[in-house]
Amino acid sequence: MSKINILPDLLINKIAAGEVIERPASVVRELIDNSIDAGAIDINVQILHGGKKLIRVSDNGNGMSRDDASMCFERHATSKITSEDDLFDISTLGFRGEALPAIASVSKVTLTTSTSKDGVGVKVEIGADQKREISDAPPAKGTDIEIRDIFYNTPARRKFLKTNPTELSHIIGTVVNKAFAYPEIAFSLVHNENEVLKASQAKDLKERFSQLYGEEMAEEFLEINKDSKAIKVRGFVSSPDYTRVSRSHQTIFVNNRPVKNTTINHAVCNAYREVLSKGRYPAYFVFLDVDPAMVDVNVHPAKREVIFERPDDIHRFVGAAAYEALNPGVEIDVSRPSPSKGSGYSGTSGYTPKDQGTPVVSESAPLAFNDSQTDIFSSGIAPDISTFFYIGDSFIAKVSDDGLVLIDQHAAHERILYEKFLKKIEIESAPLFLPLRIELPVKEYQLIIKNKDILQGFGIDIDDFGSNNVIIRALPKELGKADMKGLIMDISAGILEEETSGIKSDRTDEAFLKSIAARLACHKSVRGSEPLNNSELSQMMYDLDQTEEPDKCPHGRPTRVAISINDLYKMFKRK
Ligand code: ADP
Ligand code: MG
Repeated sequence: MSKINILPDLLINKIAAGEVIERPASVVRELIDNSIDAGAIDINVQILHGGKKLIRVSDNGNGMSRDDASMCFERHATSKITSEDDLFDISTLGFRGEALPAIASVSKVTLTTSTSKDGVGVKVEIGADQKREISDAPPAKGTDIEIRDIFYNTPARRKFLKTNPTELSHIIGTVVNKAFAYPEIAFSLVHNENEVLKASQAKDLKERFSQLYGEEMAEEFLEINKDSKAIKVRGFVSSPDYTRVSRSHQTIFVNNRPVKNTTINHAVCNAYREVLSKGRYPAYFVFLDVDPAMVDVNVHPAKREVIFERPDDIHRFVGAAAYEALNPGVEIDVSRPSPSKGSGYSGTSGYTPKDQGTPVVSESAPLAFNDSQTDIFSSGIAPDISTFFYIGDSFIAKVSDDGLVLIDQHAAHERILYEKFLKKIEIESAPLFLPLRIELPVKEYQLIIKNKDILQGFGIDIDDFGSNNVIIRALPKELGKADMKGLIMDISAGILEEETSGIKSDRTDEAFLKSIAARLACHKSVRGSEPLNNSELSQMMYDLDQTEEPDKCPHGRPTRVAISINDLYKMFKRK
């Protein structure tokens, strides 16, 4: 008996679905792509239960004939390429003819389509038995496709879906990205009968930006626009005052497809290197248009990554575009390659800070601490009366007869606040004199509303205010004048990250709460680096001592470093 078997088509499609269709949002992406490829200018997405129950996309595109409607569920059935040559010049979003058969293999499908307003339309139904039923339908130009019970026949995959709000937020992300890339197309998204997003046809990218992210956010961004024969860059980069503590809102589109790409990311971040402090990230939306022949989109089945033929050119061009946006009036000539040391860019390597500085004490110096030396950190039961000196505006030296302690004020403060938030002790929530209304991008808005009890647990009294607005009525005193909008955006990014990455999506999970507490602590302490007086400093040292891990900030950086008198003797070769 032969051991090698040819797999049946259904199984092949299910395997393909594993690559293309990860979650409801992938179905939404593929269906919207098809609508765009069909020339639609109005695309409506309707979702039930985070897409687990229903995903429905209807468009006013070209529709399909009876034959095509039946054919489109066959493997490798596509109207978009016919020969190998076409592969190198792809101008549509789809071309593999893989999406519909993959989707149909893991869900129940109803497709209704018509090429014109007259005549007859056609309806194709694929149920649990995978049989295709074809019947007449009323004519209405365009296509309407319903996907029900995704992964109903692959329980292992269904189990890995996250909560409805998390799946919804992936769907929102997908629709927002598509809508951003195609301002000339009207989009709407309805979840469980509630309209989540509506963007009418926009006159340009800027108007679409405001529609999707709110006018308030759009105002914080600078437009980028640079053109050459081969490359065109458009989009928005955040002004240097509007930065994030995480990499949320860094979106790259290559030929209108959202992708991850280190070349472009590095080029944009590099443009900020002189204006951004450590641990802060810019936000950006960059649209790169290049000749399809210069970019390979075939490297990832879900088309999430691309490879450029000439990454250095792309890097130089995008970097120049971002730099020009940040420095109005400057124009960079990109026709000549810059000297290689210029940007510190070396292919796939990460960002290299321009100047890392020379450590004052080399690593080989006798600075290895032993446990007894940590005594000199401790300031006893009561706040002590050591002398403190500021070194620049971030570091503090605490001098006593036992030696010297160097403290990173920001990191120390972060550790203290972090534990306060985490243990929810002494978090006193103070009502705001004027409640603060904040307009959020739709995805963040949905996540925050669904998780507002978590924020309430941390002393942030927040409520739904309708139309993508939230209202904050009370805040923990510790947060003071934090940039609330930035904070809320970072927290929602954190919620999404935690819910997505963890196998468990339990919102009371300790790791989850820790990550939110770290974001809260970080936000306040970033802004809170005003110099403190001597008694405030000794209070801070005391508070730091009381924490569980006084030597590290929540991100793992050191908060304090000790040099005992013994170390000093050794350093000066007196022992
Ligand atoms: P691909 O997009 O890679 O060609 P798909 O499986 O996504 O493969 O779709 C198969 C074919 O079905 C497409 O090539 C197109 O001809 C047709 N099709 C799919 N969706 C639509 C739609 N919304 N409107 C018109 N035609 C469609
Ligand atoms: Mg397609």
